[in-house]
Amino acid sequence: METDRGCPKCGASEVVLRKDQQLACSNCGTVLGGVSRLCPSCSHYNEDNLRHCSVCGTELVRECSSCGADNWVLASYCSQCGRHLGLVERLARRWQQTTQQRLYERQASMGPLKEQEEWASQGRMASIMHLERLEPLGLGPAARGHGDRRLLRILAVVAALLFVAFIVALLVTVGGA
Ligand SMILES: [Zn+2]
Ligand SMILES: [Zn+2]
Ligand SMILES: [Zn+2]
Repeated sequence: METDRGCPKCGASEVVLRKDQQLACSNCGTVLGGVSRLCPSCSHYNEDNLRHCSVCGTELVRECSSCGADNWVLASYCSQCGRHLGLVERLARRWQQTTQQRLYERQASMGPLKEQEEWASQGRMASIMHLERLEPLGLGPAARGHGDRRLLRILAVVAALLFVAFIVALLVTVGGA
């Protein structure tokens, strides 16, 4: 591997990756620092604690999906827990993050009030479903009988009103004549 900075002692640009994830000069062994500072695409050796290359913006570190430790983006195994940092896991994590992001955005756009409303309507739905489930047990026909009686009562009231209106109209006609 090479860095654009080179060894601060001998100036050699060739570096090797040590087992402790440190980069060292291949010529004199001087430790340059953590490998996660090395950009995999432009070989720039970045300042410490950067997540993206300051020259080209390439991602430098990635989180271990198991322990959350930051690792160099090209590292095969987590330096903390030893878990394999496969591409599949990385993609799965990214997908999970975007899904969570979408959920957060949806919740934010709905607001807590609307969420409560939705919960309430879900509760209503549940109670309606519950009633419908009770229907075959004998509650349904009784409720329908109630409905028929109420319809008859409404018809009777309407008929009475029509009758009263008819009487009033008759009296007005008689009074006028
Ligand atoms: Zn050196
Ligand atoms: Zn770069
Ligand atoms: Zn880990």
